[in-house]
Amino acid sequence: MELAGKTALVTGASRGIGRATALKLATLGANVAVNYNRSPDAANEVVAQATGSGAEALAVAGDVGTREGAEAAVKAVTDRWGRIDILVNNAGITRDMLLMRLSEEDWDAVLDTNLKGAYLCSKLASRHMLRNRWGRIVNISSVVGITGNAGQANYAAAKAGLLGLTKSLAREFGSKNITANAVAPGYIETDITAGLSEEIRKAVLAQIPAARYGQPEDVAEAIAFLVSDRAAYINGQTLNVDGGMVMS
Ligand code: NDP
Repeated sequence: MELAGKTALVTGASRGIGRATALKLATLGANVAVNYNRSPDAANEVVAQATGSGAEALAVAGDVGTREGAEAAVKAVTDRWGRIDILVNNAGITRDMLLMRLSEEDWDAVLDTNLKGAYLCSKLASRHMLRNRWGRIVNISSVVGITGNAGQANYAAAKAGLLGLTKSLAREFGSKNITANAVAPGYIETDITAGLSEEIRKAVLAQIPAARYGQPEDVAEAIAFLVSDRAAYINGQTLNVDGGMVMS
């Protein structure tokens, strides 16, 4: 129960990686706020499961890509527990298209949810971390934020932006016992990847030395480590969780 007494906000925790992360942090004793945008039933199911593991949990509505949504989500957490110690900026969407056909709307939607959401939530939550002189921010980037990817200019730009945001926050908060790190997943089997064709899935698999796709729990383990006291001296880093797909 190494996170007992801590309160965590996981954005986009109704499904996929966020869900696995919320459940993992709950098993470690943290109070967990399960943020969602469009899936209240799924979020409530995560809350029920997290509560079953002994921690307190709360479903928190809010489109984190908007100021109003981010404020509502953070306020719901602080109204309930009076603090935020751990923020996992996980909410993300894709709107894949080659640049020539990539609409401004799809550019904005992806940048707002994936990047602006992390800026808004970090700004709001860090006030509480600064007050308590302890904090952990983990931004969920992607290996395509490192490599780029044809058809994902909006997504790759947002995920690369998260790496710059992470390093800047690490520098701003480093002396305050607050760390900011990024996790860059490779190919993880969730709803986001479920729609990809068998041809693409096979091509990706051929690039993974581990010879398997990742599971949400693989990513949740890395996040759980980064938010723990064991990772107190790790700051501003990017941890790839990709079975060896991208090596620097
Ligand atoms: P899923 O599609 O399975 O889940 C996305 C989650 O984000 C859902 O809980 C969804 O909630 C939530 N969400 C979407 N938009 C918003 C919003 N505006 N405000 C709040 N919540 C929102 O995706 P994954 O679990 O696969 O992805 C999680 C993160 O990991 C994303 O940032 C993604 O880019 C990143 N990632 C994923 C990889 C993969 O292979 N799966 C690889 C690399 C990175 P709701 O249903 O309520 O809208």
